[in-house]
Amino acid sequence: MKKLALHWQIILGMVLGVLFGLILLNFEGGKSFIINWIKPFGTIFINSLKLIAVPLILASLIKGVSDLKDLSKLSSMGGITISTYIFTTLMAVSIGLIAVNIVKPGEYITEETREQLVSAYSTNANQKIEAANNQKNLGPLQPLVDIVPSNFLSAASNNRNMLQVIFFAILFGIAMILIPKKKSKPIKKFFDSLNDVILKIIDLIMLSAPYGVFALLAAIIVEAPSMDLFKALGLYSLTVLFGLFLLICIYIIIVKLFIGKSPSYFIKGISPAQLLAFSTSSSAATLPVTMDRVQNHLDVEEEVSSFVLPIGATINMDGTCLYQAVAAVFIAQAFGLDLSLAAQLGIVSTATLASIGSAAVPGAGMVMLIIVLSQAGIPEIGLALIFAVDRPLDMCRTVINVTGDATVSMFVNKFRKK
Ligand code: ASP
Repeated sequence: MKKLALHWQIILGMVLGVLFGLILLNFEGGKSFIINWIKPFGTIFINSLKLIAVPLILASLIKGVSDLKDLSKLSSMGGITISTYIFTTLMAVSIGLIAVNIVKPGEYITEETREQLVSAYSTNANQKIEAANNQKNLGPLQPLVDIVPSNFLSAASNNRNMLQVIFFAILFGIAMILIPKKKSKPIKKFFDSLNDVILKIIDLIMLSAPYGVFALLAAIIVEAPSMDLFKALGLYSLTVLFGLFLLICIYIIIVKLFIGKSPSYFIKGISPAQLLAFSTSSSAATLPVTMDRVQNHLDVEEEVSSFVLPIGATINMDGTCLYQAVAAVFIAQAFGLDLSLAAQLGIVSTATLASIGSAAVPGAGMVMLIIVLSQAGIPEIGLALIFAVDRPLDMCRTVINVTGDATVSMFVNKFRKK
């Protein structure tokens, strides 16, 4: 029998996970059975992906940078990567703002629903507000300071410090270029083969992907909040989803126009990473698979993907940024606040920075949304309004974050070839 393609296996795992969750919800003890006996397998799957993230960034980035041979190539690739990332982020936030201003989903929230939502989710919202306040109290240059670790081992011991590991790997790669070839040869060989070993580990982990997503989705279904609140937030969710859909269309157009590849080639190549992004809500956990797909199925050179993708997973979050713009204006509308043009333009810059600062883990975009709200003078407790639907929207925006990174890597690859 012909083996099912990986993306079909993952889709099957997802569908069966959803069905299993829905069926078990009807049985007494079904929810706790899934939480105690099924969910841990999802957690194991996510952990195994996260486990490989830091070694992968180190090996592939050091290999990628040291392969470049001269530093001017690195700086031109760095320049085009960062400017394309900023461009796509600004585009995403503008789409979000236009969509939410046209649809005005917040105006359909009655005062009663608003109070219901605030009272149901204020405790959760306050926890996030506290987390965000810790970040807000730091100075303006703190994000820059945070990029440079004072201790490599402690940076590598926390997946949230991805940028620090990237910084160290680039520095290491640059130093390898600068010393005589004869001297860098042994270490280069070491990182080349380490890279191969890690790519093999990813293949092995991916064998369990269909089972991992089955467990993750079954758990998401049984832990989802009540449907009533979902309905009240329907229009808001649709606005976010519509914006995200537009973004995917734009990526497909960019791939067609600039890279000359068909939509089916692109989607087929990247879909396993998208499905994992959807199931795990984490661009960091998805990174190993994104790198594998982009290199082996979308024809991007390793030199490019190993540089562009780890940076993208940490700073380029188009889906998150679009969501933050829609959510901020939605909350303002629901509280009856009229946002001036200046305030909305302020949202463009704060949402861009907030998405860059969001960690590539579940729910991080929501914590950083608080900074956007407070800058725009929107009540922070408004976060409680959107809490109920955050997880499903997080799943969708993570798909866009990952797709955006893949698109930019294809673009940079093409640009470099030229
Ligand atoms: N979960 C998103 C990601 O990992 C970040 C967010 O928007 O919460 O890309």
